[in-house]
Amino acid sequence: MTEESGDEAARHRDKMAKRKAVQDAEVAAKTIEKGLLIVHTGPGKGKTTAALGLMLRALGRGWRVACVQFIKGGWDTGERRAVEVFGPQASWHTLGEGFTWETQDKARDIAACRHAWKRAEALMADPGIRLIVLDELNIALRYDYLDLEAVVATLRARRPDLHVVVTGRNAKPALIEAADLVTEMGSVKHHFAAGVKAQEGIEF
Ligand code: ATP
Ligand code: MG
Repeated sequence: MTEESGDEAARHRDKMAKRKAVQDAEVAAKTIEKGLLIVHTGPGKGKTTAALGLMLRALGRGWRVACVQFIKGGWDTGERRAVEVFGPQASWHTLGEGFTWETQDKARDIAACRHAWKRAEALMADPGIRLIVLDELNIALRYDYLDLEAVVATLRARRPDLHVVVTGRNAKPALIEAADLVTEMGSVKHHFAAGVKAQEGIEF
């Protein structure tokens, strides 16, 4: 080792030691433990995917988890099959009737959303469940299929150790306000625009 590279190594060590002290102090200052209200919104791909990632992480911790799908119908998806492998540790509730432009029946869509919300309320009241994904709840709220104030009040009043993940574009400001963590997926590029159809294992 030259004298110069030895100096460089010592400088680096010194800099990293200082950085570690700052980092450790910052971590030590964060002491709150709580169930989070998490929102994944925005126009880009990844809202549901990221929610499923959290579900997987929670499953790995041995927690019981649940997912309620508000808009989508009972499609055969990879995530549904994967979750079945976990048996009673995970429950999956597909209560949507499909996209609004497919059902073309507003009254039925509203009834399906209310039914899904009732199920979500029941799951949130189950003390054994640690994480719940409410997939596309934002869409139900956007179309005013559910009462925004009532939904936000219930989410705010969740058990202190329950994590809830809400997905869907156009999250309402009242929900964003109530949330602890909000991530907006931005679309930089999407293969649909180039004529590539929904890919097995990637979209479903
Ligand atoms: P995913 O379930 O793949 O994580 P998402 O939850 O972010 O997607 P949704 O609004 O639920 O997005 O849309 C579902 C479908 O629309 C997915 O098949 C996804 O690939 C597709 N999609 C998402 N973003 C875009 C986009 N910017 N342009 C075109 N299609 C998109
Ligand atoms: Mg989605």
